[in-house]
Amino acid sequence: MLSYLTRLVSRGATGALKGASSHPQLVKMPCVRNQTLAAAPLPFSRGSPGVREAQALHQERLLQISWDDGSSSLYPFTWLRDNCQCPLCTLQSAQARSLLLSHLDVHTGMDQVQLMDNKVSITWPDQHMSEFDPEWLKKRCFSSEARQALQEELFLNESPLSGKSFPFPATWNRDLRPSEKNELLCLFSALEGCLEREYWDSSLQIPTADFEEVLQDDKTALGWLEALRRIGIVYLRGAPPEQGQLARLSRRIGYLRLTFYGHTWQVQDKPQANNVAYTSGELSLHTDYPALHHPPGVQFLHCVRQADEGGESEVVDGFHMAEQLRREDPEAFTALSSLWVDFTDSGADYCDFSVQSKNRIIDVDSEGRLVRINYNNATRDSVLDLPLHQVQLFYSSLKSFVELLSRPPNVCTYRMQPGHGSDVVTFDNWRLLHGRRSYMSRGQNSRHLEGAYLDWDEVMSRLRILRRSVRGDR
Ligand SMILES: [Zn+2]
Repeated sequence: MLSYLTRLVSRGATGALKGASSHPQLVKMPCVRNQTLAAAPLPFSRGSPGVREAQALHQERLLQISWDDGSSSLYPFTWLRDNCQCPLCTLQSAQARSLLLSHLDVHTGMDQVQLMDNKVSITWPDQHMSEFDPEWLKKRCFSSEARQALQEELFLNESPLSGKSFPFPATWNRDLRPSEKNELLCLFSALEGCLEREYWDSSLQIPTADFEEVLQDDKTALGWLEALRRIGIVYLRGAPPEQGQLARLSRRIGYLRLTFYGHTWQVQDKPQANNVAYTSGELSLHTDYPALHHPPGVQFLHCVRQADEGGESEVVDGFHMAEQLRREDPEAFTALSSLWVDFTDSGADYCDFSVQSKNRIIDVDSEGRLVRINYNNATRDSVLDLPLHQVQLFYSSLKSFVELLSRPPNVCTYRMQPGHGSDVVTFDNWRLLHGRRSYMSRGQNSRHLEGAYLDWDEVMSRLRILRRSVRGDR
């Protein structure tokens, strides 16, 4: 498996995933009942495609759709259940998945499939029902031709995997003599070596500092940022009760990162929510904004109002869990650190937006070191750009990782306090996953958090400057 995935990655980097490739590659397609899947149709024949027959292949756990034009497509049961479009499974106003991965049976069977009004209607073993539009299905056909065509459409013929860069510029090795390079590496480790990450579990005592003191005192601010780097989460207590505190805090570092949700954003139960966060439901563990190729590095949340009941916050050390997965389930680790997953986010907020990305859920560098966790089940796209034979591996691996993340001994739970002397939490969005328990919404006066993002470059910049001023480091 490992060698296959390695090949997959190198192919991915050289163009198999690149929509603009002018030489179609020969890809070995799996055969099901003597039918090669490569014969599946391109997705963009105009007009609503007609379905001649829908048949469940129970042994392979695939749904076979025969189209009017004589072609056919195959869809894994697990993928279909994961992407049920009903109002329970999809938040319609945000076009985002509300079905939790913990509620997805990745080995589901299928009770019944039938055609009703040219829709594909499925009854699952638990009697849940899903209905799929043929056009929606045809677009998401898993044949390599169809996937390539859809990727070209989503990424406007630009490969999202081209131009991926490493932390150091490519000229690093060419421009520096070995002695100079060694000198620089020593400099880096002297400056940042003791910021090595410390892994934790549910027993974590979250490091805490006073909000106003961070703003006034360099030594406290330095301690805050060093702990943010090492532990990944720091609590700031004693903030004023009104909105606008995160803008003050960001000026202590430099500036906020603007996104399509605004300079700062308000986490509240909103009608016609454009994001699953803006509801009162449970938010399963996630990182923010994997729909961007460069997700925000650091997140701030200020508790303006808390719910009477529920609304507790949860965090888990994603790097710690990824290392544990690497030991306990190496196949799952290899899959999640090499398969590219599509994420999507569209709507209107700061302005209208339609964002698409391809990220690996566990992002590692060329040495296999952890760089970033990219995972939000709500914005994980229904478009899954994997060949059929890797779909089940992907779901099983993700399930394994999410189960590990959610084990009570790994999750640290806390409850933010509002009002005078309210709480601000600051955390590493590249490393931690965070979630929220559901709460009772009281409309206007309900739970309200203000949130904001920064990037690690700006945070590390302030950290270096504070080190020089506090410790006299040069
Ligand atoms: Zn459903």
